[in-house]
Amino acid sequence: MTLPRIQILALGGTIATAPDASGAMQMGLGADDLVAAVPLLAGLADIRAETVSRVGSHSLSFDQIHALANRIMGLDVDGVVVTQGTDTLEETSFLLDLLVERDIPVIVTAAMRNPALTSPDGPGNLLAAVRVACDPWVKAHAKALGVVAVMLDEIYAASDVLKIHPTRLNAFASPQTGPLAALVEDRVVPLSLPVRAPVEAARKRLGGALEGREQPVALLWFGLDEPGYILEAMVDHRDQLGYRGVVVGAMGGGHVPERVASLVGQLAEIIPTVVSPRAGGGPLLRQTYGGPSSEIALRKAGLIWGGRLNPLKARVLLQTCLRAGLDRSAIAEVFEAFG
Ligand code: ASP
Repeated sequence: MTLPRIQILALGGTIATAPDASGAMQMGLGADDLVAAVPLLAGLADIRAETVSRVGSHSLSFDQIHALANRIMGLDVDGVVVTQGTDTLEETSFLLDLLVERDIPVIVTAAMRNPALTSPDGPGNLLAAVRVACDPWVKAHAKALGVVAVMLDEIYAASDVLKIHPTRLNAFASPQTGPLAALVEDRVVPLSLPVRAPVEAARKRLGGALEGREQPVALLWFGLDEPGYILEAMVDHRDQLGYRGVVVGAMGGGHVPERVASLVGQLAEIIPTVVSPRAGGGPLLRQTYGGPSSEIALRKAGLIWGGRLNPLKARVLLQTCLRAGLDRSAIAEVFEAFG
């Protein structure tokens, strides 16, 4: 029997840490070490292990994930498992989902408990990820699923998965949609397929992103009575600050404090500015509330409507649109499809 060829690409993260002399966990393990810790893998797949980097995911860059997407597109394998840190998995998996053009399973996994702790989850997550990559339903629906995250025996769509807790073992969830499948015993039990139309429509326009250059996007998460000093600085000194786009984590269905409404409008005139729900996800309103700082006025003022995407995902999408060279109206169309 020929086993499926699964490439493991290790980036670093808690799953790849080892204790130093003081007991502090440091980046250390490579892909071979991760594979060696899970002997059951040998019976499941023809594993190819590649260490891409040894960094915490909080320090990964857009350029590194673009290089990873290129690497994945060049691989002659039946499935890919990326191991990394949990901190930015919700962003890196979505970026890969926007960039990678393949019809094989592409899975991202990680660990919350480091290898020095009792019952670390890294080996189990790696085994689960490889099982998922080899599963017939997953293979048959690889395009329909897009890039997925596998954590704690659940499978999540990259466009929805969020890290919802900093330390808990069950730190991942898709609050809007729930998991796509569960892993029970050694079986994948399908639960649903993701709504891919907005992601597919975006992907069609993002072809140029892989050749593009870094496009910094600021994320401004508005709280009660935000005075807007940072907005003033962005409006007055845009060129010195270097940002090419902004995502505003707005209140409720798409509102900002009245004292900053006109500044937000000025910002939208000079730089693509996306409104995204600070509640974490869910469609925004479009035509319910009047007044200078609610959705009707902000949309009229030229704010791009972010739809149901979490602000972190909206930031990834805006970066990628800018990197692909899309102009303001094309960016607005891309986001519009997300509701
Ligand atoms: N800071 C680590 C990282 O993201 C945390 C983790 O892996 O869970 O790389």
